Amino acid sequence: MNLLVATTHINPGEEVTISYVPEFYNLPLEQRELRLLRSYWFHCTCLACTNSWGVRDQLPDILARIPNFEQELCFVVRWGDKKDICDEINSARWTAEFGLSSDCLEVSQEALNILCVALNKHVRKPHLNFLEADDLVKRMIICKYLGYDINEVTAMEKQRELEKEKELELKMNPPAEINPKKGKFSKFIPATY
Ligand SMILES: [Zn+2]
Repeated sequence: MNLLVATTHINPGEEVTISYVPEFYNLPLEQRELRLLRSYWFHCTCLACTNSWGVRDQLPDILARIPNFEQELCFVVRWGDKKDICDEINSARWTAEFGLSSDCLEVSQEALNILCVALNKHVRKPHLNFLEADDLVKRMIICKYLGYDINEVTAMEKQRELEKEKELELKMNPPAEINPKKGKFSKFIPATY
């Protein structure tokens, strides 16, 4: 039996879609486009692709109380003091994190719901806070539906992040090629990516 859990609200009649390739925040647009064309022969017109959303590291991550011109772009309403909005969102983030440790599924769900509603109301996508909320929902599903302890899940995630960092480090600084044969064929060939 498969269990399908949505990490966002689905309105009646709304189309439900899946990602054919890694999500926009995990793979740059050009690579997603290439994979989609090569494997599925279509050009994606989702919000992330048409608006060239960046990968995770490139997303805005702050919500300033008195934003400058550039930071205003993060908000749905782009003028005025954002003190109350920032307080509302930060309190919802804290509550959602805290709600995960509850034994009651409804408490966790409600806390996450408040966060998602606040973000959707005030913040424009893409923003790191949406990914953070998404991660919290995923953690909740792993804990509540699969029976893991929240501390176990956090430890597993930390381990995965460390592995990812190592992988990236290795990609950025590949170890020097060891070639026992010296001569005209032992030239170092740089990676082509
Ligand atoms: Zn797309």
